[in-house]
Amino acid sequence: MKVQCVICHAHGTLEDDSSLAKKLRNRPIHTYMCPECYERIRANTEKRKQNENFRLFRDHKKKVDF
Ligand SMILES: [Zn+2]
Repeated sequence: MKVQCVICHAHGTLEDDSSLAKKLRNRPIHTYMCPECYERIRANTEKRKQNENFRLFRDHKKKVDF
């Protein structure tokens, strides 16, 4: 099946019987992320988690949203 990355809009194809393809078929196609973007998001999430933990110690009354 054809997929499009929601972040960078790169087109890709998935094996029709891969578990990811099965998951996406039941959902909007927009939920697909290419491996590069997935990795970037994962890294950013990790970083943000660390920052949030860090902020919790220093300043718990402010929450910055990016
Ligand atoms: Zn992408």
